[in-house]
Amino acid sequence: MDNQTKAIDTPFGRRDAYGALSMPVYHTAAYEFDTAADMADAFTGRVLAPDYSRVMNPTVTFLEDKVRNITNAHAVVAMSSGMAAISATMLALSAQGKNIVTSRHMFGNSFSLITSSLPRFGVEARTCDLLDLEAVERNVDDNTCCIFLEIITNPQLEVADLSALAAIAHRHGIPLVADTTVIPFTQFSSHALGVDIEIVSSTKYLSGGATSLGGLVICYDTVKEFANRMKNEMLFNFGAYMTPHVAYMQSLGLETLDARYRVQAANSLELARRLKSVDGISHVGYVGLEDNPFHELAARQFGPTAGAMITIDLADRQACYRFIDSLKLVRRATNLFDNKTLAIHPASTIFGNFTDAERAAMDVLDTTVRISVGLESVSDIYEDIRQAASAR
Ligand SMILES: *Cc1c(COP(=O)(O)O)cnc(C)c1O
Repeated sequence: MDNQTKAIDTPFGRRDAYGALSMPVYHTAAYEFDTAADMADAFTGRVLAPDYSRVMNPTVTFLEDKVRNITNAHAVVAMSSGMAAISATMLALSAQGKNIVTSRHMFGNSFSLITSSLPRFGVEARTCDLLDLEAVERNVDDNTCCIFLEIITNPQLEVADLSALAAIAHRHGIPLVADTTVIPFTQFSSHALGVDIEIVSSTKYLSGGATSLGGLVICYDTVKEFANRMKNEMLFNFGAYMTPHVAYMQSLGLETLDARYRVQAANSLELARRLKSVDGISHVGYVGLEDNPFHELAARQFGPTAGAMITIDLADRQACYRFIDSLKLVRRATNLFDNKTLAIHPASTIFGNFTDAERAAMDVLDTTVRISVGLESVSDIYEDIRQAASAR
């Protein structure tokens, strides 16, 4: 069955008592049992039944089931944000004395989690160039608990070879963990490329117009023990499960994800092509462009679409600010894959609390504006960006 059909027609785990066509929002903390023995079965996991909504909730389970059905994963755990999904994954995989091999190119809070927060608990961050496989091999040792990366880094737009990294990880008996937020899992199978644990900020494409925060940890059958730990330890002891209302909105978002994504990805490609000849824009970053250095690798890994995040470079920080201040249609906001087109200057916002030297090491440039391309008419988006780039 096609992914789009699965997104719409995955059945409920159990028939709804009233035959509701849309999964009801089970706004309840706890569940009642008929007998003490039934309670014992549910609490010990002998029978799969909800007992308390920090661990299981029918509305959240339904979203997890849909994602599991689409990705053919072993298990999916829905969390309260993308960062909750990433931090829970790292806490489940690591321990004092372990290290994480990763890159300096990634979302600011993920970088700060791995290089500042986890080291306080004795987990070492080993950053290297993930495009340099020998460097990766040199950094992995017996204490490495995973290799972690983003599939298209934000905002550098770097793409690493997932199969090659998976080969290194698997030779050392550790999982390859990928944040795949920027290309929906309806478009490509990360597991087919060797990814063992896939993490998605469902705040982005899935939520359907930036309705809510959420995160997904998608566990493939190569990490069954990890999947158990995500439920039994991370939800029980750390408690950042998705709430039922959010799961309801994100289930609806998932139903229209493919349709929205197709328009946003097509808009992005056309916009990126047209922006290349706009005065004042010195560079357009989008892996969908044929002359992008990662174009072929991205197409081989993720298929014909390249997401809906593009970057443009202007003369300097002042030019970026002037550009952003001159936008009339495009919104000044963070977030990705809203229905609306959004613009942000990453160096002074998402990476604003890093030092100049840290930003330089992460290749976050003062000249870059990130644009998340929405569902508006591409001509209107182009016209607004063109006039803002020429503002003096
Ligand atoms: C937004 C984002 C996150 C964090 O997700 P939240 O839902 O905001 O916590 C992590 N990784 C990537 C690539 C993101 O774009």
